[in-house]
Amino acid sequence: MSNYNPVTPAFIDKLRAIVGAEFVFTDVETLDKYKTDEETDERCFHLPDVVIAPASAEKIAAVMKLCNEYVIPVTVRGGGSGIVDGAIADKGGLIILMERLNKIIELNKEGMYLIAQAGVRTIDIQKMANEAGFLYAGDPCSAESCQIGGNLATNAGGNKAVRYGVTRNQVYAVQIVTPEGEIVNLGAPLKKCSTGYCMEQLVIGSEGTLGIITQVTLKLQPLPPYRLDMLAIFTDAVQAMSVVPKVAKAGITPTSIEYMDNPNVRTTSQFLEFPGAPHIEDGIYVIFTIETFTEDELDMKMEQLNDICEECGAIEVLEADDRIWAMRRNCLESVRLVSLVCTTDDVVVPVDQMSDTVKHIIATVQKYPFPLRINAHIGDGNLHIVLCKMDLTDEEWEENLARFTQEIYTYVYAHGGRLSGEHGIGAKKSGFMEEFTPRGELALMKKIKRAWDPKNILNPGKVFNL
Ligand SMILES: Cc1cc2nc3c(=O)[nH]c(=O)nc-3n(C[C@H](O)[C@H](O)[C@H](O)COP(=O)(O)OP(=O)(O)OC[C@H]3O[C@@H](n4cnc5c(N)ncnc54)[C@H](O)[C@@H]3O)c2cc1C
Repeated sequence: MSNYNPVTPAFIDKLRAIVGAEFVFTDVETLDKYKTDEETDERCFHLPDVVIAPASAEKIAAVMKLCNEYVIPVTVRGGGSGIVDGAIADKGGLIILMERLNKIIELNKEGMYLIAQAGVRTIDIQKMANEAGFLYAGDPCSAESCQIGGNLATNAGGNKAVRYGVTRNQVYAVQIVTPEGEIVNLGAPLKKCSTGYCMEQLVIGSEGTLGIITQVTLKLQPLPPYRLDMLAIFTDAVQAMSVVPKVAKAGITPTSIEYMDNPNVRTTSQFLEFPGAPHIEDGIYVIFTIETFTEDELDMKMEQLNDICEECGAIEVLEADDRIWAMRRNCLESVRLVSLVCTTDDVVVPVDQMSDTVKHIIATVQKYPFPLRINAHIGDGNLHIVLCKMDLTDEEWEENLARFTQEIYTYVYAHGGRLSGEHGIGAKKSGFMEEFTPRGELALMKKIKRAWDPKNILNPGKVFNL
């Protein structure tokens, strides 16, 4: 039995009165468009009952009050690029699209911050910062399709996290609409603050379960004028991973250290029609970006990096062009050439455990009937384990996937890791969240959710089940 009421014509009429009739959708085509995000397994798809596209925080607040009154579940959708079923309305009800909250409100050059509405695409924030001579350091591979609100909701990582940290490190303040329909501003553009609980940080990474993010104040960094991208090619995964601690100890502070195993090298080169990619047959790629404020520093760091990679067993070290970065950014998209149904995990382990974890994963998968590919933000200990269904039956896929995942998560937790480094938990991993999260920690999370959302209407069933 559902805890929620069905969506009725009376409820839809009230939505129309708040949002405007042209922004309330109940037609089959629109509902079908929003039955999934990046999920490819049809068994996880779910049709919402109604989709709306409000234009302001005030309208969203009025909608949330209405949903509380009618007890209708609400799912927030940003760019829909999530891969843990977070934006799927698996309890039915209402989907709120954030795409009309798409304005950059202010770029403050003296204060080095930028204020934007939550539905702005991440790439547009990056571009505007660059044009003004600054860097917005959040950089998920999906920057062209995701929204900044979605990045905060999932605490997205990405390619620059090794130097600048993840999304939560880029945020001064957020505005949210609470599950009960209040507009609240949390945080401020301050370098330090010890004034009560850090509420904005609680909202970041809460995957739309504690509030709908409507506006963000982001930190900007000075844009380093010198940059070089380098590709180190290995034939052994453990040797490739071994560069990370050496680079950290040498104080090189690269902006990125990214990893692609050989199956990823092959499929991305095919996907991007780049047959001349170096060492396609056996190469494992580690891509570095170094950015500095002087040319001398850049030269010195590139030399150091070259020496470290050679010491660690690189078969070739080259300057990388944009095509190499395009390959890295397309690891997820290109896997569809191999299998339409696949799953991407994103466990995170302490950096010093990475080589052993990769060895363990490669050994474990030998017992299973699916091929494995790994791409990783190796500077952060964050591994994307991609498994392909190929021509397995649904039953074979599900049974093997469940056993493999259980084995890997057990190993990861025994070595100080966690379920997700950047994609979040969504609905997909909520069962594992219950199983692997320490009891006290999970109980506190549930108490917070109950206090903020007494009727459990906002993204219910995401992260954990109440
Ligand atoms: C090709 C590809 C590459 C990717 N690369 C990366 C990467 O490098 N790093 C990384 O971290 N992730 C990556 N991702 C995953 C995904 O892009 C991120 O999780 C991203 O932050 C999701 O943003 P979105 O706007 O698309 O959110 P959605 O997918 O729409 O939603 C994700 C979750 O956030 C919630 N949400 C969205 N907007 C709001 C809001 N305004 N307020 C409250 N809750 C909200 C949703 O309810 C849902 O739970 C990648 C995905 C793809 C497909």
